[in-house]
Amino acid sequence: MDHRIAIIGAGVSGLTCGVVLAEAGYETAIFAAEPAAETTSAVAAALWFPYDAEPLDKVIAWALQSYEVFAELSRNAATGVSMIELRTFSRCDELPIPSWAAGFNARSMSKTEFVMTVPLSDTSIYLDYLQKRFLAAGGKMTTGVRFERPDDVSLAFDVVVNCTGIGARRLVDDPDLEPHRGQVVLVKKLDLPGAVVCDDAPLMYAIPRANDCVFGGTNEQSDDLAPDPATTAAIVSECCATLKIAPPPIITVRVGLRPFRKSGVRLGLDRMADGRPLIHNYGHGGSGFTLSWGCAETVLNLARKR
Ligand SMILES: Cc1cc2nc3c(=O)[nH]c(=O)nc-3n(C[C@H](O)[C@H](O)[C@H](O)COP(=O)(O)OP(=O)(O)OC[C@H]3O[C@@H](n4cnc5c(N)ncnc54)[C@H](O)[C@@H]3O)c2cc1C
Repeated sequence: MDHRIAIIGAGVSGLTCGVVLAEAGYETAIFAAEPAAETTSAVAAALWFPYDAEPLDKVIAWALQSYEVFAELSRNAATGVSMIELRTFSRCDELPIPSWAAGFNARSMSKTEFVMTVPLSDTSIYLDYLQKRFLAAGGKMTTGVRFERPDDVSLAFDVVVNCTGIGARRLVDDPDLEPHRGQVVLVKKLDLPGAVVCDDAPLMYAIPRANDCVFGGTNEQSDDLAPDPATTAAIVSECCATLKIAPPPIITVRVGLRPFRKSGVRLGLDRMADGRPLIHNYGHGGSGFTLSWGCAETVLNLARKR
């Protein structure tokens, strides 16, 4: 194992690649402008569910691969991963079970609703778990470093992995990336039987977690990271109407930018100006957690082949 690998980015993509590469025996270091807790990844509801990412055939393949790993992780509570019953419904249209869900014991409850069991990553626990696992495998982590170009990574590293999410717009000048803004409201812990998602407008979800509940959400093209109070009120109102509960106390409101890439997730081998291999792994849109393990395995295979 001769090469040293630098990963740019400490969100779910960078950390998962870090774990996979370090555990495969590579000397691996993560460099990131923001630590995990301040990334888009920390804002996510983080249900396993293919959403707002392209192209569908590859997305489903990576998602199915990741599902297996999450299901295994859910056996250990310390990971922050659990299996949860997810009810997906439409307010107006028929909602058939997607073909990819057939293997997951998905069942129709009515013409407009189906339920299935999926992994949920509680980001307040899971990102720490990934980071600790990466460090335990010998990985090194440096935050507060913003690169202008991938070539700025020290020549001590002979492979660079780009896991910069929406930051890739600037880092590699990718005009294909669109910020799909999502606002969520964290409310007091609720005793819900499972997670609830409605995909038609207005987008609505309620996800019970270990210490709180995530109410969402929004999906609009915007760079604005400031929480909007009117949107907060609309999210709480829609969730409470669906759940038939009184508004719970709000803990905090957070905004993240889903890194949606019009031409699809960028996962492949490139070369930097100085000739070093550059492996891209960004543009996962609303599915960064859902695709994380499948994409990280592909990154490992690319690193082996390069
Ligand atoms: C409201 C909301 C709900 C979501 N719900 C789900 C869900 O239920 N399921 C799901 O699978 N996904 C969900 N997502 C999507 C998911 O959050 C993203 O796909 C995922 O977080 C992207 O992870 P990432 O690691 O690629 O990028 P990020 O988490 O954005 O991390 C990028 C990292 O790169 C660093 N970086 C960027 N540019 C540079 C640079 N030039 N130099 C150095 N470092 C740099 C950043 O500092 C950061 O550390 C949701 C997103 C939002 C906003």
